[in-house]
Amino acid sequence: MGKTTGFLEFDRKVESYAPVEERIKNYREFTLPMEEKDVKDQGARCMDCGIPFCHSGCPLGNLIPDFNDAVYRGKWEKASEILHSTNNFPEFTGRLCPAPCEEACVLGINEDPVTIENIEKNIVETAFKKGWIAAKPPLERTGKKVAVVGSDSAGLAAAQQLNRAGHEVTVFERDEKPGGLLRYGIQILKWKSM
Ligand code: SF4
Repeated sequence: MGKTTGFLEFDRKVESYAPVEERIKNYREFTLPMEEKDVKDQGARCMDCGIPFCHSGCPLGNLIPDFNDAVYRGKWEKASEILHSTNNFPEFTGRLCPAPCEEACVLGINEDPVTIENIEKNIVETAFKKGWIAAKPPLERTGKKVAVVGSDSAGLAAAQQLNRAGHEVTVFERDEKPGGLLRYGIQILKWKSM
């Protein structure tokens, strides 16, 4: 597990936002990155529960206690492998997911839950910076062709898995550019909800 007494020692801490007067001038990300030590402390808050409800709360079945522990120990590459074993796009979910895992976190019963989503984002951003994110072409091709209709996250994840299984995949998209809701919907939905 993380640090045995981590949840007693560290309060929940999440990224802060850039001042409004700055962020209204551009479309860049407006959260301010946390120090590595702070992210590791947040990983240390995980209690590695006997029944990790965070795990079942995650629609992807992310192995949350495992990557929390790896982050706490500074094993970022291992954390990235664990995260990517169940999640094709943590760079999206670490930013946009409504985080039902945090709603399900046992620590949330009487404390603030573990900052699972932000830990996820930090893992994948570290992996990008370190060059650990790379294409994984299959060793062999099956000779089979698969068409994926729609290039939103579900379509792209399906295409990635099928390609890794050796099939030749073509993704079809009716809009001008790929991405579906990722490109055309989420910003609008987020703006409407603000
Ligand atoms: S429920 Fe919360 S405290 Fe328990 S293992 Fe999951 S993230 Fe850690």
